[in-house]
Amino acid sequence: MTLMTVHRYAYVTLVTNADYAMGATALVRSLRLTGTAADIVVLHTGGADEKALAPLAEFGCRLIEVEHLPLSDAFNERHARGQLHSAAPFTKGRKPDFHSPLDNFCKLHLWQLTEYDRVVFIDADAIVLKNIDKLFGYPEFSAAPNVYETLADFHRMNSGVFVARPSEETFVRMLAMLDQPDAFWRRTDQTFLQSFFPDWHGLPVYFNMLQYVWFTMPALWDWKSISVLHYQYEKPWETNHPRAEKLKPLIDLWHAVYAGNDLPDLEVMANPEAA
Ligand code: UDP
Ligand code: MN
Repeated sequence: MTLMTVHRYAYVTLVTNADYAMGATALVRSLRLTGTAADIVVLHTGGADEKALAPLAEFGCRLIEVEHLPLSDAFNERHARGQLHSAAPFTKGRKPDFHSPLDNFCKLHLWQLTEYDRVVFIDADAIVLKNIDKLFGYPEFSAAPNVYETLADFHRMNSGVFVARPSEETFVRMLAMLDQPDAFWRRTDQTFLQSFFPDWHGLPVYFNMLQYVWFTMPALWDWKSISVLHYQYEKPWETNHPRAEKLKPLIDLWHAVYAGNDLPDLEVMANPEAA
């Protein structure tokens, strides 16, 4: 019998500058701690230099350089940071200065990773608290709802964590739908993917727990159930973080993972007094 290692599954993230490389470093460290055997792929643009990417290489990630998508000038202008922020202002939270909305669309390159049967995309501003390999058995397109304020949030999906099946044919269809005259995707890849996959499969919120739930819907928070913690809006490594006090336990957790500590014992997180 020949023993064969088959790499048909990959976790994928995206990094276009040094800040998100820092985020991805914590994410990849957390993924390694779950003991996954899947590949870990970091899609990156020229925006993050070798020094920023070095920790990711050390973790054995496949670093794959991608270009920005071949989109029209008009599309790029409509989705440039200043333009998008004034046409579709963020009223619930603040995006850091190092966030460039157009870069988000580079995620779509993962559909070209056709050497994999399934990929699980995870934003670079998330960490994994449990092994989530079972997601590789889930269909395209599976994602969690964008819940952080009200029940109505369940209508929308969040593109920070999703399961996809790479296919060049899908990628080509995406580009055609994306860059239509006057198309404006107010929440970039997220709005686009929700339109492209209108019958998306819903994952439980615990596969993409948004940090704001900590203070907006504490009844939904359950440490023992959280598989992926996603720091949407302000990032835990930002200086002058406007919600640093409110989110302190979550920010401390991110820094512990980034620094190389073990994953937290979720029983203890759930019940710190008993520890
Ligand atoms: N991203 C990036 N550079 C950017 C903007 C986004 O590398 O300038 C990538 C990164 O993986 C990030 C994801 O795209 O986690 C989505 O952006 P972000 O997480 O900041 O959006 P949010 O979750 O706050 O809506
Ligand atoms: Mn994110």
